[in-house]
Amino acid sequence: MLAALVVGCGLLGLAVGSFLNVVIYRVPRGESVVRPGSHCPTCAVAIAPRDNIPVLSWIVLRGRCRRCGAAITPRYVLVEALTGILFAGTAARLGATWALPAVLASVATLAALAAIDLEKLILPKRVVYPGLALVALLLVGAALAERSWTRLGVAVVCALAWYVLFFLINLAAPRALGFGDVRLSLLLGVTLGWFGWRYAVVGFFAANVVGLVVGVALIAAGRMSRRQPIPYGVFLAIGTVGTILVGPVAVSWLAGIR
Ligand SMILES: [Zn+2]
Repeated sequence: MLAALVVGCGLLGLAVGSFLNVVIYRVPRGESVVRPGSHCPTCAVAIAPRDNIPVLSWIVLRGRCRRCGAAITPRYVLVEALTGILFAGTAARLGATWALPAVLASVATLAALAAIDLEKLILPKRVVYPGLALVALLLVGAALAERSWTRLGVAVVCALAWYVLFFLINLAAPRALGFGDVRLSLLLGVTLGWFGWRYAVVGFFAANVVGLVVGVALIAAGRMSRRQPIPYGVFLAIGTVGTILVGPVAVSWLAGIR
């Protein structure tokens, strides 16, 4: 049963990853994510459904357009594969629970935002707000189905706490943490808060420790200057998804050292 759920969510993740590629490419360019359909960026030919199967088509066509033979960046396959793996991992960790759709929606939104932030150093509102609305709606659905409002209440409190904290960090160090990260904190807080306040605390530290370690390492290696803006959303996404996937280990360790 769990195996079927994990495989099913993995396949769903591949398809969602395919859509995320469209979001990642088009939203920062101000284009519609619906029209036109997928087309080759070189010869503009529309991509047939049989050539639009996640990962598989890219392997069959050896990373080239069927018509003009132009190379298609492996980034598309990486995003699809990564989303598939993250969806499978989330399903394995949560099992068949009412909150699973909400958490999958959160993971997908974070994957798209991390990719956009890495490339463009922005966290577009056009991705953050629809993602947040979808996750909130699905969590309300989960609370209704479980007939329990406690977790939703904790989730909302955690989201507000993260928001206030990020707002203050943004005031103190606007270059290190932009306002896009402040908006994003609502999504991170509400997702982790659903699992309990300890998850929200662990996630907050995980995200910031990842950001600090990577940032200091890049500066030390001379790959980045101290004044350069950093894609902090990437670290926030890694810290949050990491906490969802290995959270129980971290939280029981935290509970043990009280
Ligand atoms: Zn082409």
